[in-house]
Amino acid sequence: MADNIRVRFAPSPTGYLHVGGLRTALYNFLFARKHNGTLILRIEDTDRSRYVEGAIENLINSLHWAGLEFDEGPFLQSQRLHLYKKYVDELLVKKKAYYCFCNAERLEQVRKELEAKKLNPKYDRCCLSLSPQQIEENLNNKLPHVIRMTIPENRIIQFTDIVRGSVEFNADLIDDQILLKSDGYPTYHLANVVDDHLMEISHVIRGEEWLSSVPKHLLLYEYFGWESPQMAHLPLLLNADKSKLSKRQGDVAVEDYRTKGYLKEALINFVALLGWNPGTEQDIFSLNELIEQFTLERVHKAGAVFNIEKLISLNEIHLRKKSGEEILVMLKEELQKSQFTSLRFSDEYLLRVIEAMRERVSFVKDYLEKSPYFFEPPTEYDETAKTKNWKPETPQHLKTLTEKFSRLENPKKENFENALLAAAEELHISNGKIIHPLRLAVSGMSSGPGVYDILEILGKEETVKRVSVALEKILV
Ligand code: GLU
Repeated sequence: MADNIRVRFAPSPTGYLHVGGLRTALYNFLFARKHNGTLILRIEDTDRSRYVEGAIENLINSLHWAGLEFDEGPFLQSQRLHLYKKYVDELLVKKKAYYCFCNAERLEQVRKELEAKKLNPKYDRCCLSLSPQQIEENLNNKLPHVIRMTIPENRIIQFTDIVRGSVEFNADLIDDQILLKSDGYPTYHLANVVDDHLMEISHVIRGEEWLSSVPKHLLLYEYFGWESPQMAHLPLLLNADKSKLSKRQGDVAVEDYRTKGYLKEALINFVALLGWNPGTEQDIFSLNELIEQFTLERVHKAGAVFNIEKLISLNEIHLRKKSGEEILVMLKEELQKSQFTSLRFSDEYLLRVIEAMRERVSFVKDYLEKSPYFFEPPTEYDETAKTKNWKPETPQHLKTLTEKFSRLENPKKENFENALLAAAEELHISNGKIIHPLRLAVSGMSSGPGVYDILEILGKEETVKRVSVALEKILV
C-alpha cells in the first residue's frame, strides 16, 4: 500500500446526509485511519440550482454526530472557481475542450432527431468546427456558452477498480461532456478531477452510481497529464424488495435515524456491513474494531440490502453494552423531552431503573415507553390482567400484604419478598394469587422486571400508596 494515503468524502449539499453518504464517508474514514492517512471533506456545491440553505452545516453535524472526524476541510468548490477556470483554459489551448454556443432549443432538436433514428442522443459536435474568428466574435457578442470536453473516437477506456475489477467503456457512447457551464461554474466532472488532483487524493472511494463517470475522468487525467487515483466503487444500497434505496420505502437521512433514537454505534456498525464483511462470523463492531479489520478488498460488488430489523437488533445490542452512566445521560435527555419533565429523579434512582430494564430495551425511549411506572404512578390498569388476576378476594389479600410492608424499615427486595411469602402463608393462598395483582397495582402492567425489583426501586411508601390507589380504582 502506498504510504501517503489521502482520501476524501465529497458530498453535494442537497439538504441532508443520506445513509449511503454515511457509508461512503465511513469507508473513507476507516481506510484513512487504518493506513494513518488523511481524510478530506470537500463540499461539491457547484450546482447552484440544487443549492439548499443550511445543507452544509447539516452534513457536518451528522458526520460529527456519527464520530467521523475529517483531517482537512471542509473545502467548498464554490470558493475555488478560479482554479477550474484556469484548468479548463489549459484544455482549450490543448484542443481537448471547445466552446459550444448551442442553445437549449437546438440541443433538444438534435436529441429528438437522434432518438427518432434510434441513435445515441449525443451532442452532434456542431460547435467543434467553429473557426477561431467565429468563436472570437461570439465571445465578443457575449453569446451564452459552455465549454465541452472532446471525447476521442474509437477508444476503449479500461481501468481496474478495487471492488469491481477490470471495467471497460466504449468512448463512442460518451457525450462531449460539459465542463464549464454558462454560469461560469464547473460541472461535477471538471471540479472533481481538478480537486482530486490538487488535493493529492490517492484513492477515490464512492458509490457505484459514479462508475459511469470514470471514463470521462480518466480522459481528463490523461489530457492534463496527471496520474489518476485508484478507485473503489461501493455497491448500491437496496430496499428489501431489491429496488434502489429510496425515501418512499423508509428513512434515508441520517438525522431521521438520529431523531428516532438510533445510537451512532448501531448506525455505524450497520452501514459498515452494507457492502463489506470481515470474512468471519463477527457482526458486532465498534468503530475501532472496524478500523482494524476494514479492507477495500473485502468490499463486495453485489447490491447491499438495507434490513431495518438488523439495524434495530444492532441498536439493542449496542445499547445494552453501554455503561449505566452512559445510558443515564441519554435517559435524562429523553426525560427532558417527555411528559415526565416536571418530575425530578435522582441519578441513583435512574441508575436503578436502567439496570432493572437493561435487558428489556432496544432504544433509550423504551425506558419511558415500557416502564412509565418508574416515572409516574399508573393511571390505567391492563384490562386483560385485571380480568385474569383481580378477584373479589384480592383487596383483602393486598391489605394484609401492605400491612406487612408498612412495618418494614428501608426494605430491600428480599424483605419485600419475605413479607409477601408470610402474607400468602397467613392467607393460605399461593404466592401467585398475590404477586400478579400486586404487579398490576404498582405498575398498571402485567409484565416487566421482577416484581421485587420494582418494589425496591419504588420504595415502601410509594408501593403502599399505589396499592391503596389501585384498591379504590380497580373494582370488581
Ligand atoms: N459530489 C458527488 C456526490 O454527491 C461526489 C462523487 C464522488 O465522490 O466523486 O456524491
